[in-house]
Amino acid sequence: MSKRKHEETAVSTKKPKTSGHWAKGLLQTMKDPEFVVNSDDSVTIIRDAYPKAEFHYLVLPMEDISSLKAVKKEHLSLLEHMEAVANDLIREDKHKHKDFKLGYHAEASMLRLHLHVISDDMNSACLKTKKHWNSFNTAFFINSTDVVQSLKQNGRVVLPGREQCKKFMEQQLQCHKCDYKPKNMPDLKGHILKHLRK
Ligand code: AMP
Ligand code: ZN
Repeated sequence: MSKRKHEETAVSTKKPKTSGHWAKGLLQTMKDPEFVVNSDDSVTIIRDAYPKAEFHYLVLPMEDISSLKAVKKEHLSLLEHMEAVANDLIREDKHKHKDFKLGYHAEASMLRLHLHVISDDMNSACLKTKKHWNSFNTAFFINSTDVVQSLKQNGRVVLPGREQCKKFMEQQLQCHKCDYKPKNMPDLKGHILKHLRK
């Protein structure tokens, strides 16, 4: 194993420091050099500490915006910038054989608005539950372009209600690449391996 490979492995298994309420964990990770990938005056990009795919990053604003619900029309250029830095990131060499999805969870669990930047292999040991799966592979995951569009049209981000979100989470498992409807998560996790690019 090359030194670089070894370092990558060591970094990717490290868990972030946690103290205080779990929902504020991203705010701590934003300050952890082991997780920060890039930053500028208005945003920070971190590696997701429990990645649900081979590459999984979060783009967070420096401004303390709690969630999509708190996004106002004056945040339009910020959300466009978050999408732009995500697009710059996925154009990097190490991602060149990967397809990515850029989007937000309709109801986030963690504080501070965050844009998920996730490779669409969904191949990760941290992806364990139906909720994990459905949060990235149903309409619970709202593409960044749709969020920006909604903000432009409505002056706020129009979101599905609580009941609708619950339904997305309970939706029958479905492979994101083909018609296969797996019986359960182990079945799905075995199945998606055949879609991985060699
Ligand atoms: P959401 O459901 O949109 O709030 O997603 C929160 C994301 O944050 C998930 O993908 C988690 O894997 C990730 N996560 C949870 N805790 C931390 C942490 N302390 N540092 C970095 N990422 C985290
Ligand atoms: Zn499939």
